Amino acid sequence: DSFFQNVVQGPEDPILGVTVAYNKDPSPNKLNLGVGAYRTEEGKPLVLNVVRHAEQLIVNDQSRIKEYLPITGLADFNKLSAKLIFGADSPAIQENRIVTVQCLSGTGSLRVGAEFLARHHHRRTIYIPQPTWGNHPKIFTIAGLSVKYYRYYDPATRGLDFRGLLEDLSSAPSGAIVLLHACAHNPTGVDPTNDQWEQIRQLIRSKTLLPFFDSAYQGFASGSLDADAQPVRMFVADGGECFAAQSYAKNMGLYGERVGALSIVCKNADVAGKVESQLKLVVRPMYSNPPIHGAKIVATILKDRDMYNEWTVELKAMADRIISMRKQLFDALQSRGTPGDWSHIIKQIGMFTFTGLNTEQVAFMTKEYHIYMTSDGRISMAGLSSRTVPHLADAIHAAVT
Ligand code: PLP
Repeated sequence: DSFFQNVVQGPEDPILGVTVAYNKDPSPNKLNLGVGAYRTEEGKPLVLNVVRHAEQLIVNDQSRIKEYLPITGLADFNKLSAKLIFGADSPAIQENRIVTVQCLSGTGSLRVGAEFLARHHHRRTIYIPQPTWGNHPKIFTIAGLSVKYYRYYDPATRGLDFRGLLEDLSSAPSGAIVLLHACAHNPTGVDPTNDQWEQIRQLIRSKTLLPFFDSAYQGFASGSLDADAQPVRMFVADGGECFAAQSYAKNMGLYGERVGALSIVCKNADVAGKVESQLKLVVRPMYSNPPIHGAKIVATILKDRDMYNEWTVELKAMADRIISMRKQLFDALQSRGTPGDWSHIIKQIGMFTFTGLNTEQVAFMTKEYHIYMTSDGRISMAGLSSRTVPHLADAIHAAVT
């Protein structure tokens, strides 16, 4: 008899489970638009040339060793990551009031930040957008925070429910943490405008809430690393405190290398030093210290001007291909005369389109057209190509007529 006789079968992950179902489908026309991973026009995963180049340099480096990194990770990587998100000339960096810790991609950075907050923040409540990335509520709940939602998306306009957002954050208790997607909101593709960000900033500061940015798509939204970091920089420029979780999964295509960073912007250098000491106590019993390889790749690229420039060109090409898929899908629906307003496909930003298709329509498209996507109607534009757009447009057309 097993000790685990009574363990019940767990459900598949709602996002990664889409790939499991896709892999089982024998149809040659099948299309996976579930997971948010970039694909080329040929439908293949992409390793950036600049990443291959950096890996060559790393492998050829005879002084390379395999010792443990410090608990906080590769020091160069941390410094360069802070510059990337906060800006090379950020006063907060010069004032030494930012602590940056290398973590296991975006997820691990959120998890470490959540654990720190559960131990050291007086208000253990976090407000997350409705809807949000499915892992958010789990990460924060498991760390011991109480998760509440603020209104974010308005299905009627397929845009931002700005009034709802302001109302909900206005009634949050002082000290509450607010999770914000830095850019390219997942799953809706709807971001606040700069004016709206400024109003959100004023509200958060006047209510003494604590902003926690999730930056998983820097450079992927607009094609510009600086433009996509603008909301974060607005909050740092006012001298207040904030958290930022960075991922290099999408913007450097380093998905499986699990490389990211958590930064905590503190009021002053004294606080920052103490915060860092406590972050080490969070990380040590979780995984001791992070892996070397991915952080080395990132640091190699970020510190060399030519490689950095090469990266921005490749990044922009990925962002542009996604934007062109939006246009092609929109045009394909127009030309089919598909009923409804589909302009949100070209208005939304980042990797995903929140189509507005319901669970039944999604199930229909999977069954009849072998198109795989999450049941909330989110499609990964990065998984589309000029060749597959017509098939998707046919499926959407059939689903809504
Ligand atoms: N945050 C958001 C909003 C995401 O969409 C993702 C990935 O899909 C992540 C964080 C973290 O991804 P990773 O842990 O692979 O860096």
